[in-house]
Amino acid sequence: MTRSDDLFQQAKVHIPGGVNSPVRAFKAVGGTPRFISRAEGPYLFDEDGKRYIDYVLSWGPMLLGHAHPAVVEAVTEQVKKGLSFGAPTEIETRMADRLCELVPGMDMVRMVNSGTEATMSAIRLARGATGRDKIVKFEGCYHGHSDSLLIKAGSGALTFGTPSSPGVPAALAEHTLTLTYNDIDGVKAAFEQFGDQIACVIVEPVAGNMNCVPPIPGFLEALRQCCDNSGSVLIIDEVMTGFRLGAAGAQGHYGVTADLTCLGKVIGGGMPVAAFGGKREIMEQLAPLGPVYQAGTLSGNPAAMAAGLAMLDALSQPGFYDTPFARTDALVAGLRQRADAAGIAMTSNHVGTMFGVFFTDAEQVTNYQQVMACDTERFNRFFHGMLEGGVYLAPASYEAGFLSAAHSEADIEETLAVAERVFATL
Ligand code: PMP
Repeated sequence: MTRSDDLFQQAKVHIPGGVNSPVRAFKAVGGTPRFISRAEGPYLFDEDGKRYIDYVLSWGPMLLGHAHPAVVEAVTEQVKKGLSFGAPTEIETRMADRLCELVPGMDMVRMVNSGTEATMSAIRLARGATGRDKIVKFEGCYHGHSDSLLIKAGSGALTFGTPSSPGVPAALAEHTLTLTYNDIDGVKAAFEQFGDQIACVIVEPVAGNMNCVPPIPGFLEALRQCCDNSGSVLIIDEVMTGFRLGAAGAQGHYGVTADLTCLGKVIGGGMPVAAFGGKREIMEQLAPLGPVYQAGTLSGNPAAMAAGLAMLDALSQPGFYDTPFARTDALVAGLRQRADAAGIAMTSNHVGTMFGVFFTDAEQVTNYQQVMACDTERFNRFFHGMLEGGVYLAPASYEAGFLSAAHSEADIEETLAVAERVFATL
């Protein structure tokens, strides 16, 4: 019995499933989750002393690698002055200034504590600003666990959805229309029928919660156009893509600008930080300026802002992204080459520092149905082989992988050598 086995048993006594977020329990892949004792650079170390090259990076935030000295020092200095005041601080203004400088179309921003809060609040604001109730989202995109978003597609293409979790009122599902990602005609049809009732469209500009699925050319542009034509708010959820595809996020990468943008993960450098912001006239609807209510005891927490600012300073250095982008290219190309050589049917998607591999005969994967048609059982064996070999991938076939600026060429080579051995067993 490993120490992780023992700790998992102990955890299950007082924590549902032994974890504070479901995917950590390894339910999709089976086996015991590794309990982590510490992390440094691109490595995780588990409670049994084993080292892993980490491609999960706390589900995205650790773009600089773990325990980056600049971030740790900024937090340490800040906490000496007190942990939370519940009153305004200068560092919150500096963070807001920085975000508005970097993120396309962001005139004003409100800090929150999780991506869930960011998207939930952005949707309330869009509903408040438009006076409409209906929202559009896409199958396979995840925007956190608020009620309006835990809705799966209805039975017909243009029927409103049903709750995807018990506890979500069916009455709320009636307001959420779930469409197929990358289906431009589907979006146009929905707007033709319901355009004047749609408060907002929320989208992951590169979907990272159904493995890694980039937008096809014209998809984000079509959303922008439909929202413009019908007076709906376009919410681009960059909780995952923000500062992962470059300093201007997916919006900079694809040249499509949101009305409201949600951020999280990287902007907190590993602390519980998220944000939503965008056009001034919409953000001015928010309390205390306007009537749309939103609040938070720990929002804009000074230690968290210190971590975020240190992170933003590091990633806005010229050339910061060159190496991690090149290493992501090299990793994905290397995996494909080795899968080919082993006769394993596999394809991949990657953008910036996000990547995903798919065990499928299909040449391209562009939507949720195609992701779900992949060979999950083969992925699970791949996952466990890699884990055994010291490479930590997301413990589910429908999650994107991430690189950090701390992953070295040697780390990529080591990962590929392990993958070559594992492919031979699949
Ligand atoms: N939006 C996106 C695109 C996400 O990937 C996530 C989390 N994976 C969320 C929102 C929710 O963020 P959080 O887990 O911080 O609530």
